[in-house]
Amino acid sequence: MTTLNEFSRCVAQYDPHALPVSAAQAIVREWATPVTAIERVPLRDALDRVLAADIVSPINVPAHDNSAMDGYAFNRAALATGASTVDLTIVGKALAGHPFAGRVEAAQCVHVMTGACMPADCDTVVPQELVERGSGTATIRFAANALSAGANRRLAGEDLARGHAALRAGRIMRASDLGLLASLGIGELSVRRRLRVAFFSTGDELRSLGEPLDPGSVYDSNRYTLYAMLRRLNVDTLDLGVVRDQPAALEAALRSAAASADVVLTSGGVSVGEADFTKQLLQTFGDVAFWSLAMRPGRPLAFGRVWSGAHPGLGLPALFFGLPGNPVAVMVTFYQIVREALLRMSGATPQALPLIHAASRRAIRKRAGRTEYQRGVAEQGANGQWHVTPTGSQSSGVLSSMSEANCFIVLGHDEADIAEGERVDIMLFDGLI
Ligand code: AMP
Ligand code: MG
Repeated sequence: MTTLNEFSRCVAQYDPHALPVSAAQAIVREWATPVTAIERVPLRDALDRVLAADIVSPINVPAHDNSAMDGYAFNRAALATGASTVDLTIVGKALAGHPFAGRVEAAQCVHVMTGACMPADCDTVVPQELVERGSGTATIRFAANALSAGANRRLAGEDLARGHAALRAGRIMRASDLGLLASLGIGELSVRRRLRVAFFSTGDELRSLGEPLDPGSVYDSNRYTLYAMLRRLNVDTLDLGVVRDQPAALEAALRSAAASADVVLTSGGVSVGEADFTKQLLQTFGDVAFWSLAMRPGRPLAFGRVWSGAHPGLGLPALFFGLPGNPVAVMVTFYQIVREALLRMSGATPQALPLIHAASRRAIRKRAGRTEYQRGVAEQGANGQWHVTPTGSQSSGVLSSMSEANCFIVLGHDEADIAEGERVDIMLFDGLI
């Protein structure tokens, strides 16, 4: 068995003390294996779940050729050529759900409403607003060059053809997908079981809500941000509270978390000094890939595997992310490193988060050799151009900067100082956070 540690050492640019973000993402991606268990759920309960198998359309949607407009259906191919106007006699009417059953001869038409089945023999619909209707007579007239054959006709199977994959396995089910499966008559489907993620905070200074704040203590906010970010990914969460800065307590917490979850997330206790201790602990009953990234905020970030037993390989395994303690660093590392892994483990096939170009309204100090995720407020001008202003404090302890911001300003590994007006990449929070 290859260990995570052995695997990581073969990754390009491997440096356990300052691993580039892209290398860290590549390692994590490789070890994020999807859960295999599958559940059958009713259609409504499938919202935000991950589809376990392709859905093959059992029918054509629409089931019949039908009219895309309110108008008159006729046989364009049967019209005499040469005349500048067309005169047709109305021989019947078809509404959605009420087809016209009769025959339609060459100079005849049927009054059709949107969604009505195309009468047999008809291939084209002339929209109501293009015709003159003879008063009192059942005839219509319109310009012959107004339409080509097939106009305003929706074809059977044009939305979904029978036998074709309507949705692919790995898809996260959204509103349109629920509607789409309903249009196929599918009321129940197979999804992956939800990923189970356990998390706890570490730190002697942390107090839970409801406890008094004695001097030097702080409320534990990370468990709330983590809970919310995890809920957005629709995973099952297991909040294991606060664990004190004692090796024995930490080891017990990690092992019991590994026993009950697929992934264990912790915050705090991985910064300089403490990192060695976490690393040693992980090496005794786990497998550690890296513990320091060339990233800001988020430099101290440990990644590995832990087992519920006393040695690596003993008991139940879980993927482990030791996030930094600083509240902003928790959010940044979650979105840049953890999120994709959790989606993959849930069985989804996530796309990279989109980046948008924006002009910076301020000069930004940036050191080459690490990726930075600054908090910014972006706005789009009338000409469509995005501008972004970094929030005041970029300290990784200032959580209000995340609430104030609406995007990350992503400054790449090799980028250096940014001048005012220079183009930067931004990642909008909307739909993400
Ligand atoms: P650490 O990584 O444990 O050294 O923590 C870095 C900073 O983050 C310290 O100021 C901690 O007090 C703070 N911190 C750690 N965990 C939490 C938490 N759960 N909630 C709020 N602040 C935290
Ligand atoms: Mg700490």
